[in-house]
Amino acid sequence: MTQAVAAGTLVGGTPLQVRVEVDVPPWLQHPDPLGCLARQDLFFPPDYTQHYRDRIEAAKALCADCPVRDLCLAWAVPQADLEGIWAATTPPDRRRLRRAAREAAA
Ligand code: SF4
Repeated sequence: MTQAVAAGTLVGGTPLQVRVEVDVPPWLQHPDPLGCLARQDLFFPPDYTQHYRDRIEAAKALCADCPVRDLCLAWAVPQADLEGIWAATTPPDRRRLRRAAREAAA
């Protein structure tokens, strides 16, 4: 478990800082070689709606060139309760991937 901080600004200019605990894959813990844990503003948006589309797309763009993306995807997809963007997937994306895998296996 690793603690991460997301900071931002609410409408009206009120600063907001949220501390979250997330399970972090071992390859990111010591240290975070790819920098994604340092970009909590992008990788942990408050939700995954169109409202945060720009942040989500920016996170996905960073993942696109990541050398451990396949490893990250294999780690993230099976975890039903995993928050955040991992391997260019949001939680709704991963739900769709799990559903597709179940259907393909049926
Ligand atoms: S694929 Fe994305 S979330 Fe996963 S380690 Fe790489 S940059 Fe981070």
